[in-house]
Amino acid sequence: MRRIFIYLMLLMGAVLPSAAKNRAQQVIAHRGYWKTEGSAQNSLSSLQNTYNIGVYGSEFDVHITRDGEVVVFHDDDVDGIKIENARYADIKDKRLQNGETIPTLQQYLEAAKLLGDMKLILEVKEHIQKSDEDRCIDATLAMVKEAGLESRTEYISFSKHACDYIVLHAPKAKVSYLNGDLTPFEAKQAGYAGIDYEDKVFKDHPTWISEARKLGLVTNVWTVDALKDIKYFFKQGIDYVTTNNPVEAMGVAN
Ligand code: MG
Repeated sequence: MRRIFIYLMLLMGAVLPSAAKNRAQQVIAHRGYWKTEGSAQNSLSSLQNTYNIGVYGSEFDVHITRDGEVVVFHDDDVDGIKIENARYADIKDKRLQNGETIPTLQQYLEAAKLLGDMKLILEVKEHIQKSDEDRCIDATLAMVKEAGLESRTEYISFSKHACDYIVLHAPKAKVSYLNGDLTPFEAKQAGYAGIDYEDKVFKDHPTWISEARKLGLVTNVWTVDALKDIKYFFKQGIDYVTTNNPVEAMGVAN
């Protein structure tokens, strides 16, 4: 009996560290995988490309227009037209660099439905009016639910207000905070699933990755493009690297 017990202990000892070591480290394509012929940041083509290379998820940015359309676009303005104050009609014919029009979130989600179990890393952009962030999130959560994509969608934002609003209104949603000014403990207290911080923040706070893990938070670093930096963060035990070079990053992920 004693021998069996010792054997089991040895087995667990052998299994547990390797299981921890082999915890999947994943790659997220920043604004989709857009660095290819005919693609553009935050385009439907970049979403499809992300799926084609088989990484964990496609990151993208959303804003809401004055008349309630949620659109996928990075900047606050399109050719000088502030999205938050614009009608959708004012921007709907504007073109991305690859000739596509600016996708609506509805179109983006429709396209994503066909893309296996790839995750959607949805960034709610900061709006000038916090009430516009609330409108953006209300509309987004409803669309994600309607599309049946709740289990595949994770939320990120620089806006603490937006993160808190999502936690409040979609308690099961995974929310990670981007702004880098909360400790892992504070992020945990806020009810977030993770911290998604700029590389510099993790370098300035070298204990935060392990602290976050002990608290059960996931860790994500942005935007890391150089291979040596991607390797560095995977070695530090980061869970996710958000990068403009997802193919190269996959080559060094564990
Ligand atoms: Mg973003």
